[in-house]
Amino acid sequence: MADRPRVVVLGGGFGGVGAVKKLKDADADVLLVDKHDYHTFQPLLYQVATDLLETPTVGHPLRGLFHEHDNVSVKQATVTGIDLDERRVTFAEMKPRPYDYLVLALGATVNFFGVPGADEHAFPMYTLPDAVRLKKHVLERWAAADKDPALIEDGALNVVVVGAGPTGVESAGALAELYRANLAEDYPDIPQDKARIIVVEAGDAVLSMFKKGLQTYAKKALEKRTVEIMLGEVVSSIEPTRVRLKSGTVLNAHTLIWGAGLQANPVVSGLGLELQHGNRIAVGPDLTLPDHPEVFVVGDIAWITDTKTKTVLPQLGSVALQAGEHAGETISRILRKKKVEPFEYEDKGTMATIGRKSAVVQFRRGRSITGTSAWLAWGTVHLALLSTGEDRARAVVDWTWAGFTHERAGRIQVDETER
Ligand SMILES: Cc1cc2nc3c(=O)[nH]c(=O)nc-3n(C[C@H](O)[C@H](O)[C@H](O)COP(=O)(O)OP(=O)(O)OC[C@H]3O[C@@H](n4cnc5c(N)ncnc54)[C@H](O)[C@@H]3O)c2cc1C
Repeated sequence: MADRPRVVVLGGGFGGVGAVKKLKDADADVLLVDKHDYHTFQPLLYQVATDLLETPTVGHPLRGLFHEHDNVSVKQATVTGIDLDERRVTFAEMKPRPYDYLVLALGATVNFFGVPGADEHAFPMYTLPDAVRLKKHVLERWAAADKDPALIEDGALNVVVVGAGPTGVESAGALAELYRANLAEDYPDIPQDKARIIVVEAGDAVLSMFKKGLQTYAKKALEKRTVEIMLGEVVSSIEPTRVRLKSGTVLNAHTLIWGAGLQANPVVSGLGLELQHGNRIAVGPDLTLPDHPEVFVVGDIAWITDTKTKTVLPQLGSVALQAGEHAGETISRILRKKKVEPFEYEDKGTMATIGRKSAVVQFRRGRSITGTSAWLAWGTVHLALLSTGEDRARAVVDWTWAGFTHERAGRIQVDETER
C-alpha cells in the first residue's frame, strides 16, 4: 500500500467526485478532502431555499459515495495552501499531505465586487448553509410581518434579487411560486402587492448568455409570475432593510439575494500562478498546469479552452463533472502506462428553469426549446447529475408532489435553541 502512487483530490463537488469515481480501479491511494462532509448539488440550492426540496436531496454524504471504492479515503478538512514544488497540501485541521498526482477542484465563491454592505447583509446562493439561511430568513420575515403590519410597509416581505443570470432567474421564479401559491394561502390577510420580488440587473437583458428569443421568453415568464425586472440598474449599497441603486432609487427590502458574480476559490492566490478572469487557473488541453503535468485543475476554478470551439468553457456542473472524470481517467491511464487523450466537452445544452412547466434550453447548434418540454429536459438533465439513485428518487417525489399540488413540505421553522 505505502509504495502506491498517492492521488490527492481537493474538493468534493462535481469535479472532485467525477475524478474520484474514475479512479475506482486505479492502482493508487486516493484521498478526497473537502471542508464539508457532504457533496453539494449547487444547481438545486434555490429549491432548498424556497422549500421545494429538502436538504438531504441536495447534500449527499461524501463518504457514502465511495463505500465500494477500496482505494479511496475521505477526510473532512479545509485546504489552506498548496506547495506545487514540494508537491504537498496543507490543511487547517490535519497534517500536510504529500501527493504524486493532484486534482484541484475547489470550485468558486461569491464575488460581491466590493459593494458596501453586501458581505454583511446579502444572501448568496452557493452553499447549503446559504440556502438554509435564506429559507429561515424569509419564513421569519413573513411570521414577523403577520404580527406587526408596520413591517409590511417597511418592505419586510420584499425581496431584491441581484443579477438576471441563471441563479437570479431561477431563484426569483421559485420564490414567486412560493410567495403566490403557498405563502399567499398561509397569510391570507397580507396583501400580495406588498410582497414584491424585484430582479435588479446591470445589463440590458435577462439571461444574457442565451439567444434573444429565450431572453424574451424568460422575462415574460418571470413577469407572468409577478416578478418585477429592473434592467440597466446597478446596486450601490445594501443595508439590512434598504437597497440603494446607482440611479438614486432606494428599494425597501429586508432580503437581498446575490446572484451576480463568482470568483475562483481564494486558495488560488497563494499558488504563484498567473490567473485569468475571475481568478481562474488556465490549463492545457489535458487539464494539467503547464509546468506541472502531475497537477490537474477542473471545474469552476479552471479556465479550460474548448478544443473544438476554442472558447473558454463556462462554470457549469456538466463541465466540472466531465472535466473531473477526464482527470481521473487520465491519471488512471498514466498509471497503466496508456496513451492519454485531450479533454473534449460534450455540450448537452445550456438551460435555466423559471418555474413549474417553464424553462429555456439552448442546444449547441442553435436549436432551442421553451415551456413544458424544456422544463422536462431540465429536470431529466438535473436528475442525471444528482449523485445517487436515492437522491434522484427523493427529488422526483418532491418535484412531482410540488408540481401537482403546489405544496411545499418544509415550510416550517424549527428553532434548535428552544428548550
Ligand atoms: C445557484 C447555482 C445554480 C447553478 N445552476 C446550474 C445549472 O443549472 N446547471 C449547471 O450545469 N451548473 C449550474 N451551476 C454551476 C455548478 O453548480 C458549478 O459549475 C459546479 O458546482 C462546479 O463544480 P466544482 O466541482 O468545480 O465546484 P463545487 O461544486 O463548488 O465544489 C467545490 C468543493 O470544494 C469544497 N471546498 C471549497 N473550498 C475548500 C477548502 N478551502 N478546503 C476544502 N474544501 C473546500 C467545497 O466544500 C465544495 O464541496 C449552478 C451554480 C449555482 C451556485
